Amino acid sequence: MKHHDGPSFHMSSAELREHGHRMVDWIADYLDGVSDHPVRSRSEPGEVRAALPESPPDHPEPFAAVLADLERIIVPGLTHWQSPDFFAYFPANSSGPSILGELASAGLGIQGMLWATSPAATELETLVCDWVVDLLGLPRRFHSDGPGGGVIADSASSAVLTALVAARHRAGGAAVAADLVGYTSTEAHSSVQKAFAVAGFAPDQLRLVDVDPVGAMDADHLTALLAADAAAGRTPFFVCATVGTTSTMAVDPVAGIATACSQHGAWLHVDAAMAGSAGVAPELRWVNDGVDRADSWCFDPHKWLFTNFDCDCLFVADRAPLVEALSIVPEYLRNAASESGEVIDYRDWQIPLGRRFRALKLWFVIRHYGAEGLAHHVRRHVELAETFEGWLAASDRFVLAAPRHLNLVCLRAVDGDDATQVVLDAVNESGQAYLTHTRVGGELVIRVSIGQTTTELDNVERLWGLLHDAAEGRALPRR
Ligand SMILES: *Cc1c(COP(=O)(O)O)cnc(C)c1O
Repeated sequence: MKHHDGPSFHMSSAELREHGHRMVDWIADYLDGVSDHPVRSRSEPGEVRAALPESPPDHPEPFAAVLADLERIIVPGLTHWQSPDFFAYFPANSSGPSILGELASAGLGIQGMLWATSPAATELETLVCDWVVDLLGLPRRFHSDGPGGGVIADSASSAVLTALVAARHRAGGAAVAADLVGYTSTEAHSSVQKAFAVAGFAPDQLRLVDVDPVGAMDADHLTALLAADAAAGRTPFFVCATVGTTSTMAVDPVAGIATACSQHGAWLHVDAAMAGSAGVAPELRWVNDGVDRADSWCFDPHKWLFTNFDCDCLFVADRAPLVEALSIVPEYLRNAASESGEVIDYRDWQIPLGRRFRALKLWFVIRHYGAEGLAHHVRRHVELAETFEGWLAASDRFVLAAPRHLNLVCLRAVDGDDATQVVLDAVNESGQAYLTHTRVGGELVIRVSIGQTTTELDNVERLWGLLHDAAEGRALPRR
């Protein structure tokens, strides 16, 4: 007997179609007009919240009202990371195929925790990770046809935590944890320290290795620390090297670090979150030097490979310690496919159980651009950074503050920190571009990170003009 269903509050498929088409139009319009907004939001603390009702609606609201508030209240409270004039922090790429891949993932709404919960999600993820090995010229040991393989995580922060837990397992697990010591440089990303804290290590179980004057790990200092700890009866078990530091894009000497690690059986993780994408261009594959001896490596397509957040690829040379460390099988997840050993269950490659279908957007992106298109745009960003570096060399207002690697140019005003700060503030307040800072050798430095999806020569030329006008005390036009 069919029961009467009563009222439905769901969006009908006809409405989904209508609003969905409008939403896609809205996104395309937003991206077309993104340069009209000040790049950095001018919102004051509390302003967005004050413009919205304190309580949730009692009754359904029309979709058009939601969209109107998105436009009127939310957009002005945003910093426009997709602006071609965004040069701050690091890029957070997005692209048409990525947006549509994310939409498809939401539309399918699957959970990919086990192979059995959606076989295609697992198999596509393994395939896309294997494609990435080819695309970036990574060592064969990261391909799934051997003991290693790749997984898509939410972030490089999760990737380092996952690698750390696998390394601890390989070193003997919780029973020996008190004797373990890990190493990373003083310029490594804060996520390394956070991973050690989350994994329950004491602060003195992570040693910070010195860097050379350009910010790369001093492999001799590492070697000395490893030897001293081993002589004192402790166990060096994990080293995190960085290819492309956050401050200045410095590149640690991975090959020398790998040699030091192998003497102590320590796990080598390479964090190439930002710089890893450079491997799409064969002439930039020096970023992979030494990686053939790493136990794990990760990069963020959500930074510089035209794929929207979140998407990090983590590769391991041997998946056994990872799966052994993270596999816990309650009765309700037991299934024949898992027990056959013929399938990958990616929940064993990450901290949470549930997983988004992230492979879809990366697959859409790689198929849309092809290796050719991806290499073209990454190469273009590096060329723009080279061009910018050339202008700097000829400038009497600014100097290069650190060697340029890839797409990051670090500069400072010749007149010192106060002058650098004035320029930085003037450009950011104008809304015409957005820049962030770091310190190199104690001096204030402006970072120009050239990697937003649609950044082109005219954007970089305009930025150079703004910097000069600000340095010469001229008022900048406001957006
Ligand atoms: C951006 C970055 C991170 C953190 O990336 P998430 O994916 O946001 O966790 C870690 N390491 C380096 C070198 C980075 O550039």
